[in-house]
Amino acid sequence: MTIFSKILAGEIPCHRVHEDDHVLAFLDIGPLSRGHLLLIPREEKATLGELSDDSAAALGRVLPRLCRAVCAATGAPACNVLQNNGAEAGQVVMHVHFHIIPRFPDREQGAGLRVEWRAGELDGDAAELAEAITAAMT
Ligand code: AMP
Repeated sequence: MTIFSKILAGEIPCHRVHEDDHVLAFLDIGPLSRGHLLLIPREEKATLGELSDDSAAALGRVLPRLCRAVCAATGAPACNVLQNNGAEAGQVVMHVHFHIIPRFPDREQGAGLRVEWRAGELDGDAAELAEAITAAMT
């Protein structure tokens, strides 16, 4: 059980933006920019890979609508959708969540998010790697 279970149960207050039978979206308490949202499933699972298809589908169905809404409401021309999946990926609250982070032309308005992207090169075993991932899909 995490703090998000308490939010789902109404035991801890939050600013609710959207909810249905499967999901809840609310304002992040420590926003990286104005309008920073969290989207969570009601299902209590730590990582995306553990989720049921129903929860996953409900998240996917509402994500584009939330992106459009937060951009329309804040005037942001863009947003990042970020999903920290596991402690090594920076996840702190162990209940699946998507961050929706509006981005603004003025860097100061979105100063809380920096993405470092140090790209490597796809090497010789790419075909085997792709096959191995395909074979591992369940
Ligand atoms: P992560 O590092 O991806 O696990 O992000 C957890 C997020 O949950 C952080 O952005 C926190 O600011 C946010 N958070 C933690 N507690 C609350 C809360 N009570 N209400 C809203 N957001 C919260």
